Amino acid sequence: MPTPCDTLLTCDVLMTQDMARTTINDAAIAITNGTITAVGPKTELQGSFTPASHLDLGPSLVMPGLINAHTHVSMTLLRGLADDLPLMDWLTKHIFPVEQKLTPELVRLGALLGCAEMLRTGTTCFCDMYLMEAAVAEAVHQSGIRARVGEVIFAFPSPAYPDLDGALDVARGLEERWESDTRIRTAVMPHAVYTTNPDLLQRSYALAEELDVPLHIHLAESTTETAQCLEQTGQRPVAYLQDLGLLGPRTLAAHCVDLTDDEISILADSGTCVSHCPESNMKLASGFCPAQKLLDAGAMMGIGTDGACSNNNLNMFTEMGTAALVQKVHRMDPTVLRAQTVLDMATLGGAASLHWPELGSIEAGKAADLIALDLTRPNMQPMYNPASHAVYATNGGEVRLTMVEGEVLYQDGSYTRLDYPALLNEIREAAHWVQKQL
Ligand SMILES: [Zn+2]
Repeated sequence: MPTPCDTLLTCDVLMTQDMARTTINDAAIAITNGTITAVGPKTELQGSFTPASHLDLGPSLVMPGLINAHTHVSMTLLRGLADDLPLMDWLTKHIFPVEQKLTPELVRLGALLGCAEMLRTGTTCFCDMYLMEAAVAEAVHQSGIRARVGEVIFAFPSPAYPDLDGALDVARGLEERWESDTRIRTAVMPHAVYTTNPDLLQRSYALAEELDVPLHIHLAESTTETAQCLEQTGQRPVAYLQDLGLLGPRTLAAHCVDLTDDEISILADSGTCVSHCPESNMKLASGFCPAQKLLDAGAMMGIGTDGACSNNNLNMFTEMGTAALVQKVHRMDPTVLRAQTVLDMATLGGAASLHWPELGSIEAGKAADLIALDLTRPNMQPMYNPASHAVYATNGGEVRLTMVEGEVLYQDGSYTRLDYPALLNEIREAAHWVQKQL
């Protein structure tokens, strides 16, 4: 007797990212209640399932949705506002002053634009740190994408809170609001060592433990950060966080550029996860994250775009290509950070780093978060190795379908939940407001 399912998706090529990294030609995926129930050859599944709907994607490469392991999605609103500056100047003279005047509505709008960009370029889940994050969560909810969200915590007042007690209340409130949601999870997110203090960091970690959510922080992003930390605390950033008890599997650290070999071991041995953001590191001339050394030491790693101001896009396909290329030239070794390794980081590594094990691969029992790339594009032909194409040949424009939890959110130029033309109009108006703040 055939089994009923909600959707039977068929395609020419399926890259599963399962344990054996299986690729199936003429493949099918059965989906029920947002979960993958079976994966296999089309002929096999077509005989064993009676779907409510059949989604035939033909000449497409279907693969797991990409996971953006570090971003500030609402910063799409400030994209291109200030470029070509050192990190600390850029942050304190150009970004922070505008951000202090943002409203929840502007944060929500910027987040919606970012979600639209990510859905269109094959990202199905992201880790987001920003101010007034409650408004980001609303945008995530509206767009249908998945995210782990957190209010950025500074040692100074933000538009969302007057002090640390207030900030921790916001983090707790965010978790309470979205606790039972399947697509939104939260984390506690102190900004960085240079914008916080020991009490703030330890109380943030205690709250993350209490809520049983991850802690996400920028760490060792530049030599300037290291110099400041040494001057203020007598320690380098990794040792400082280690002594405060903040390193461990619960912690996801973004950047991790300025690391010694000992610090690489400390991060890996403690189980601390790392978000590698190579384009932001290049644009701000922060340096090279020793990604291959971190992986060799056993660190869990994801890939992130960082915000749209330091990238300037949220495209995980181009980020994967950059991650591979820049590591090779940094090490002067073309064998490091191979295509499959980079793809693993952007899928399975992101899922593990975000503590979301149901994501990252296309297998029975996993969430139906997947994307389809158009294989009729000239840059996708011929295809000997799908992982190679995903990392080196794709630019994100090939994405023709994005599905989260079994729901199609983007297909062939159209969004199913977003009124994109209306959103563009609102963004144009918001951009006028931003320009007036300069
Ligand atoms: Zn960042």
